[in-house]
This record gives sequence, structure tokens and C-alpha cells, in this order.
Amino acid sequence: MSEKHIAILIIGLILISTALCYSLIPSAGLKYLWKRKSRKRAREGQAGRRLYLTFDDGPSKAYTGQLLCLLKQYQIKATFFVVAEFARENPDLVEWMAEEGHLVGIHSVQHKNALFRGREFIRTDLKESVETLEDMGCKVDYYRPPWGHLNLWTLLFIRYWNLRLILWDVMANDWSALETAESIKEKILNRVFPGAVLCLHDGRGKAGAPERTIEALRESIPILLEQGYSFERMDAYEY
Ligand SMILES: [Zn+2]
Repeated sequence: MSEKHIAILIIGLILISTALCYSLIPSAGLKYLWKRKSRKRAREGQAGRRLYLTFDDGPSKAYTGQLLCLLKQYQIKATFFVVAEFARENPDLVEWMAEEGHLVGIHSVQHKNALFRGREFIRTDLKESVETLEDMGCKVDYYRPPWGHLNLWTLLFIRYWNLRLILWDVMANDWSALETAESIKEKILNRVFPGAVLCLHDGRGKAGAPERTIEALRESIPILLEQGYSFERMDAYEY
């Protein structure tokens, strides 16, 4: 191997190690730890028969209102992680969420991937998200990064703004065009466990995805209630 090849190899290894330490390991590690802790609490019977419904990627004109009506029907309080740009387009929906007693958290300004972004992007993204929601009268304490992707700057700035990082235990792939309302319902019912945080979506997704999510919830909420589950906002979650 020539000296040039060795130098390229070393630079490559440095770049890979940097990426791993900067964002990949923190993102994957925190998701793993979140799920492990939830499972442990459920196993030890510490979680109660509670579920936490959380909705990302809204508000959306077409779907968020329908979802709010469905939640009201069952007097369920949930947590919405809104995209600031969509919140600015639909301030009435954010107001409606708050009026109904739901918790509103942030989910970036434009749903951009934070994985390999630098300090300035992370700082601005969080600051603008917080300010947008605060201008709408929401007190912002909770943050879920898009795809759960974060880096070391994210961890620093969420401490600076006193934000609580919220990940999830259960996904139902409800953003996918391959899922039906029935398959989302099955996933929800098969995957929940006491104390689980469910991550669903009331915006974005493929080909009218939130409509299937709402349909799946219409079917699964009564079943979960019958199974003795109650639904709480993320501020009732014990960390
Ligand atoms: Zn998202």
C-alpha cells in the first residue's frame, strides 16, 4: 500500500469516527436507552396502564382537525410535536390543540435532518421553533427531533433552552404508503405495552397517510380503553 493510500485510509477512518461520535452513536444510543428504560419499567410494573399518544409532523389543514375531534370524542389528551413552518401556516390549529388541553412541543422548523448539521443550524432551528410556538401562546418544554436524529450540539442546546428530549417506544409506520388503516391498527394493538410512548403522524407522510392513521385510531382507541389503558400527555410521563 502506498503512502497516499494509507493517508486516505487514515482520513477516512477519522471521518467515520467523527461522524459516529458526533451524531450516529448519540442518536442510536439515546433511542436504545429510551426503549430499554420503558421496557424495564413495564416489566417491573412501574408504568401503570398508561399510554402516551404523540403526533409529529403537523399541523396539517387536511387532517389535524379530524384528529382533534376524534380525541375529543374520547376525552383523550395527547402531545403534538409540531413543525414550526406548518404551525405558522395553521395558527388556528395550534390554538385549537391548546384549547383542547393537548400539550404542544416542537419538531424543528422545516423537518430537516439534523444528523450532520453544525452548531448554527441546530441553534437557529431550536430557537426559531421555540419562538414560533411561544408567539402563539404555547409554553414550549418538549422537543422531538425529526427521525430522532440529533448531534452533540442538539444535546447542548436543548439543555440551554430547558427542553426535554422525547423519543418513542412504538411506531406503526403510519407515514408509509404501504400501510393500510387496518395494518396500522394491528401494529398499534400488537406493539403497545404499559407506559409506552406511541409516535404517530398528523401531517406529511405518503399519499394521505394521516387519514389512515386517524382511521386506525378510530378503531384501536376503544379497544385499548377496553383493555384498561388510559392516555396521558408527555408532561405526565415519569422520566
Ligand atoms: Zn417528523
